[in-house]
Amino acid sequence: MSVTAIVGASWGDEGKGKITDALAAEADLVVRFQGGRNAGHTIINDLGRFALHLLPSGVFNPRTKNLIGPGVAFDPMAFFGELDELTAAGVPAPQVLVSDRAQLTLSAHVLHDQYEEERLAGEAFGSTRAGIAPFYADKTMKVGVQVGDLRNLDWLRQRLERQLTPRNALFSQLYNKPTLSVDKLLAELKSFRERLLAIMVDASQLLHEALIRQDRILLEGQLGALRDVDHGIYPYSTSSSPLAGQAAVGAGLPPWAITDIVAVVKAYSSCVGAGPFVTEWHGEQAQSLRERGGDRGEYGATTGRPRRVGPFDAVATRYGCRVQGATRLALTNLDVLGTGDDIPLCVAYELDSVKRQDFPLTYELERCQPVYEWLAGWNQDISTVRDWTDLPAQARCFIERVEDLLEVPVDLLSVGPHREAMISR
Ligand code: GDP
Repeated sequence: MSVTAIVGASWGDEGKGKITDALAAEADLVVRFQGGRNAGHTIINDLGRFALHLLPSGVFNPRTKNLIGPGVAFDPMAFFGELDELTAAGVPAPQVLVSDRAQLTLSAHVLHDQYEEERLAGEAFGSTRAGIAPFYADKTMKVGVQVGDLRNLDWLRQRLERQLTPRNALFSQLYNKPTLSVDKLLAELKSFRERLLAIMVDASQLLHEALIRQDRILLEGQLGALRDVDHGIYPYSTSSSPLAGQAAVGAGLPPWAITDIVAVVKAYSSCVGAGPFVTEWHGEQAQSLRERGGDRGEYGATTGRPRRVGPFDAVATRYGCRVQGATRLALTNLDVLGTGDDIPLCVAYELDSVKRQDFPLTYELERCQPVYEWLAGWNQDISTVRDWTDLPAQARCFIERVEDLLEVPVDLLSVGPHREAMISR
């Protein structure tokens, strides 16, 4: 039996999609367990360059099944749009399944998200406006709609009415916007109902049988530990839990089944959206790193927004690895540090003249200053290296220092955006 969670230990955009795509070549099943279409995974392989938002990153392997777990904010329009784009781009028809207990992100959630961000104006969270926060609020308020509700149209209508009554009051009275009708939402849902019914499954049963067969299962997280709604930089968090602990629940597996937790971490820091970011660089220094980072610079795959960037933050990432329960690390974007002089690593924070190794609360983080140590750069292109022993000594020193600081062994190294640009240690 092998169940591996592939999760982010930082703010998201660590390269989880690339690592999942690479490991999926050996997997029977890849499962998304939380979040929605609000983040993007960039994947580059022999089939092309793709930005996935909702589809699990196993879709490029025709023999791998891909499951949307019950914990996902499932936006059917986005899902089928993405699926159709992939097949139009020549990807052999992916095997995709959707849990009947996943809940539906509706156009009403998207509008709600937009209206609320407009209302907050300068105080907004920088939401991707994909409806995620209103979706999870509805789920907790128990007015959400499960995918399986599409089987029973009378029940579905009742569920939608229940959800729309308070929402319409908000729309008309708080936001001064038009109200929505149940008939409109029902018509939207009916437009893809047949297609969805055909791929709907009982996720926990499917996973139970997969465990008995000893299938190889990957659980793919979205965003990273520091955006976790409980353990992250609340309220600049997401509305769900991207932790491996949630992977069992959000997929439908027993917690003991997950024995391998790969925390994906970038060799520097990057972050999209609002919130404290202790090692943030500004100006030219930031722009230079931003242009070198990722596959086409550090710009959001969903929004195109420039990502905030800075040096590696071992305080935040060690905390991220701990709350993930990481058993090994995948260190990505190592090639990006190939140019430049010495490399700064943030090894502590300073707050009110006190050095701190813990990860403070959000209002304290805003005032923390980074304490750096400097390691020698390697000033060499390492993107074609495939063997640990061929890495420059300075790069190996950097990696060993990272694993010391994070207290987790680095097992996979990514030296370029393409699937093949990997070193297994
Ligand atoms: P995810 O959401 O965690 O999958 O991360 P994203 O795909 O949003 O962001 C990661 C970015 O880094 C993307 O542009 C990837 O193509 C890119 N990337 C991943 N691994 C590497 C790497 O080792 N080197 C470089 N240069 N880019 C990488």
